[in-house]
Amino acid sequence: MIRRAALALAGALLALAPPPAGAELPIFDAHIHYSRPDWDAFTPERALSILARAGVHRAIVSSTPDDGTLKLYARAPKSIVPFLRPYRTREDMGGWARDASVAAYVEERLQRGVYRGIGEFHLSASDVDAPVVRRIAELAAARDLFLQAHVDDVTIEELLTRYPKVRFLWAHAGMSAGASTVARLLDRFPKLWVDLAFRTDVAPGGALDPDWRKVFLRYPDRFMVGTDTWVTSRWEVVRDYMRDVQVWLGQLPPDVAEQIAFKNGDRLFPAP
Ligand SMILES: [Zn+2]
Repeated sequence: MIRRAALALAGALLALAPPPAGAELPIFDAHIHYSRPDWDAFTPERALSILARAGVHRAIVSSTPDDGTLKLYARAPKSIVPFLRPYRTREDMGGWARDASVAAYVEERLQRGVYRGIGEFHLSASDVDAPVVRRIAELAAARDLFLQAHVDDVTIEELLTRYPKVRFLWAHAGMSAGASTVARLLDRFPKLWVDLAFRTDVAPGGALDPDWRKVFLRYPDRFMVGTDTWVTSRWEVVRDYMRDVQVWLGQLPPDVAEQIAFKNGDRLFPAP
């Protein structure tokens, strides 16, 4: 009886205790999708609560089709930073860069005035100068929108060279580009920012990689973290994924960790 009371008391104290200082940073997640298959699995309310429980206080969201993004934005306009994906369906993924109807769709959709960027899109180096890419780059420059591009290092370099007025958010740091390549591009292009979604090589086994660490210390204002809920099952691991991110953020100087965790996102995309 006494033992049970003591356990209950300990439990109550545990629940009241604040988390250890610096253990959990608020997260600005630069890479969330809420696409059609996700809608059936998770209501917008549920999706928002998954993000909140993972410590994500704000997120860049895009989706196929775009209605998913607007569903979340309608319920949480201060937390959701909408990006307009140029894909009406998954079938647009392959040929969008040369499909004039995509340009018309993007232009019409942008009239809503809520979007802070266009993307995430995929592109090969041979399509950097394709008509729809030229058009969305013009729109982005005119409206001060970011372009979130999931492309390799050669293609991002060509995009930045071809469209020098546009700010780019490089999804996944190109997925395979190494720390030194990323550093070289950040050095050369002041309008390049980088999301680290899926880059588990930043901290293999939980230990921050020394080469990445150097790049983060040199460019603390150019990186953001991200989950990438590209398939519905990813929604189930947002919390675990962000727990791992917190572990390597904790190995950086606090001011650098805060910038990468949320300050860069909040600065680039101030809440309305
Ligand atoms: Zn993605």
